[in-house]
Amino acid sequence: MQLPAPANDVHSLIVNALLFLFHIDTVSIMVKEKKLFRTVISSGRLRDNIASICMEDNNYLISRAIEGLKPTSTNDIAEISRLGLPDSVNSMHIFPIACKDCTHGVIVIYNSVISREEAYSILEFCKLVCLVFKANILHNAYDECINDMYILNTSVKKLTPQLHNTDLLYESIVDTATELLTAEKGSLMLPEGDSLLIKAVKGINRWLANGIRIKSGEGIARNVFKNGSPLLVKDISKIEGPRIKPKSHYKTGSFVSVPLKFASETMGVLNVTDKTTGEEFTERDFNLLNHFASYASISLKVSNYYNLAEQMKELSITDHLTGLFNRRYFQERFTEEIHRSERYSLVFSLAMLDIDDFKLLNDTEGHLAGDSVLKELSRIARECLRANDVICRFGGEEFAILMPQTHKEEAFIVTERIRNNIKESFSYRFKKFPHPAITLSIGIASFPDDGKNINDLIKNADTALYKAKELGKDRTIIFIIS
Ligand code: GH3
Ligand code: MG
Ligand code: MG
Repeated sequence: MQLPAPANDVHSLIVNALLFLFHIDTVSIMVKEKKLFRTVISSGRLRDNIASICMEDNNYLISRAIEGLKPTSTNDIAEISRLGLPDSVNSMHIFPIACKDCTHGVIVIYNSVISREEAYSILEFCKLVCLVFKANILHNAYDECINDMYILNTSVKKLTPQLHNTDLLYESIVDTATELLTAEKGSLMLPEGDSLLIKAVKGINRWLANGIRIKSGEGIARNVFKNGSPLLVKDISKIEGPRIKPKSHYKTGSFVSVPLKFASETMGVLNVTDKTTGEEFTERDFNLLNHFASYASISLKVSNYYNLAEQMKELSITDHLTGLFNRRYFQERFTEEIHRSERYSLVFSLAMLDIDDFKLLNDTEGHLAGDSVLKELSRIARECLRANDVICRFGGEEFAILMPQTHKEEAFIVTERIRNNIKESFSYRFKKFPHPAITLSIGIASFPDDGKNINDLIKNADTALYKAKELGKDRTIIFIIS
């Protein structure tokens, strides 16, 4: 990893201290940058002459000082000239800023006579300088960490508003990941069957990428998915392997591919390619994307659960207006009741209820008044029933009641109680509705006499209900086989 140089004020403190403590002519600090040692500060008489000196790290004077952790020196003019130093330099002493596990640079003292004791003191001073450099690196790493946490936090916040829409979430994950790594291209792949399917792309032709399937065993993304391990490729052309070839539509050969994991499940793969600067992706990019992938995975999971909850809501068993069971659930319970009654030779009754002149109520009092009648009527009806009875909203202003182990005569008593309670509750409640109350017409059919399956029982209860309407509404009629 490239080591960041300490701030300039630290450099000048070091050279000033050396000039003050020792009788030296000129001093410089050369910092290691990749394979070069570059002068970052110079001070003393020849400071301008040596300000831009660079040396390769295989320079024998430097490498001897670094490897031996002791000073090296020369006053051989020919040798100094060969090193490319200016004529004004007639001697140099190189002190390592290094320890066993890291090399930061060297301190070079020019045109000075240094005693053995002074050399020893300067070497000890260099050990302190090495610690300062180390502290500075730690400080920079700390700053970088704080900065990365801030960037990550900002990125993760961009996903939250999309949790309720999976397609938008997919796009947001790819957009944010590419932004995070200042890259041009990205893609999100999710498994479908034994393939990986591209779900969202950035910087890649959407129409070409849409629906592309990466088959089992194919390519890098597939391996990342299969192994669940992230991959940083700095230069793909340097990777050996028959299946891995640089793709012509990518600008660089560097990319990051990370799995989206939740607990032990790998949910997909996130790929980021082509850094905007054309540079390789770094370890820092790799770490950032891995952290982001953890959040993205949680977001995907939450979004999946959100979708499931939505589906559950749709399939839920209650009617949202009245709070009664819906027809789907009622039919399930109806089927169970038939099976149970068949097995134990029990009877049960079904009542179908229809509000009289409900259309007229809507037309005269308004739809909202109609809604509140439906709600209140449902509450009253439920209060008249036993715990085992099941009432549902069968249709608009129609209700069905299943009364287990109830003969039709008992059912008649129950529905009459409902009908009368409702009539009483709504008497003279309305301004424009011409009738004095809300009334119900009710038809009753019983298992097994009037039918042995759902359809027959509903049909016959309905027949009785229409009979009630024909006879002038506001009554309960028991079905009689004619
Ligand atoms: P009948 O006495 O013959 O039963 O006449 P009706 O008006 O009660 O029956 P019809 O089937 O002609 O009309 C039923 C009305 O119920 C029509 C429809 O607009 C209304 N309706 C259905 N669902 C709702 C609802 O959720 N809220 C409201 N306010 N009205 C509803
Ligand atoms: Mg009706
Ligand atoms: Mg009606």
